[in-house]
Amino acid sequence: MTVSWGLIGASTIARQFMIGAIRAQPDGEIAAVMSSSPERATAYARENRIPAAVATLDELLGSDIDAVYISTTNELHLEQALAAIEAGKHVLCEKPLALTSADARKMVAAARAAGVVLGTNHHLRNAGSHRAMREAIAAGRIGRPIAARVFHSVYLPENLQGWRVTRPDAGGGVVLDITVHDADTLRFVLGDDPVEISAFTQSAGMAAGGLEDGAMCLWRFRSGVIAQSHEGFTTKFAGTGFEVHGSEGSLIARDVMTQKPVGSVLLRTAQGEEELSFDREDLYPRSLRQFHAAIRGEGQPSATGEDGVWSLTAAEAALQSAKSGKAVAIDPKLGRAA
Ligand code: NDP
Repeated sequence: MTVSWGLIGASTIARQFMIGAIRAQPDGEIAAVMSSSPERATAYARENRIPAAVATLDELLGSDIDAVYISTTNELHLEQALAAIEAGKHVLCEKPLALTSADARKMVAAARAAGVVLGTNHHLRNAGSHRAMREAIAAGRIGRPIAARVFHSVYLPENLQGWRVTRPDAGGGVVLDITVHDADTLRFVLGDDPVEISAFTQSAGMAAGGLEDGAMCLWRFRSGVIAQSHEGFTTKFAGTGFEVHGSEGSLIARDVMTQKPVGSVLLRTAQGEEELSFDREDLYPRSLRQFHAAIRGEGQPSATGEDGVWSLTAAEAALQSAKSGKAVAIDPKLGRAA
């Protein structure tokens, strides 16, 4: 069975990664793209060899597609996802799923009721580096995990310095953009859920309109693990990394908070240092492969709708903490299947 996709949003991420990821599937095809501007839809379809360009959701959802990929600005995800779910389409939605966790929960509930697959496009779970870290921890190679550190402060490329740094109404800001990914990656690698978060945010010169372009968060996990994460749009030379320190060893990954299958993971124990080998498959095609399998009833998307609720709830708690100056608790029952 071929999975026929409709793209909701003539976006950069679709052009750079997702169109290729869908086409990399032997059973994937892109039937149409929807943009709010008919001219942009037509130009985007032509540039990306997409057969149909439409300018309304009704037209897209009324066509013979099986699934939609939503990559519009964040304030539009909720309404578009609910409409697609109502039309019986499977939905792969960009992060954050919505502007509030309450809205994200509505999406999860609607997809469950309609019996369609809902996935969140948290790409980092698909990286061989993060999977190798998760497996090493699960296998006990660092003993009992104690603490984690995430270095995810980057420089936002000029072509992306639009709504992310100017439009609070579109869900701009580094927390909804990057902290959500860190929440998801910490949960995935540690196999644990955050229960409390405390954050400082800043505007270091790029973001306007009261938005933050830098954040430092402190996390407490259910098991007692504590973590720190740094997200930013304004640091050109920081590099990225992810570390987990345990009672018997440390995992030290470098250059792994990225869209590409690059970087390194070092395991350091009493036995010495070992570079872990991991597969270098591209992240987004792997995500698509798993989503197609989920449509066939084989397993789950690599990040589910519930995972998207978790990451958004954590980001929301971070924003609340930054505003109030107090640590914010996260409901530990969140995201568990009802
Ligand atoms: P873009 O800014 O490229 O696109 C977002 C929307 O902006 C498009 O849907 C489009 O609206 C509109 N737009 C695009 N070009 C123009 C233009 N020239 N003039 C006016 N409007 C324009 O967003 P991104 O691709 O950076 O992000 C989209 C979503 O994907 C966000 O939710 C983001 O969080 C997520 N994302 C996820 C990543 C991941 O790795 N998981 C990485 C990057 C982004 P229309 O469709 O109506 O034409």
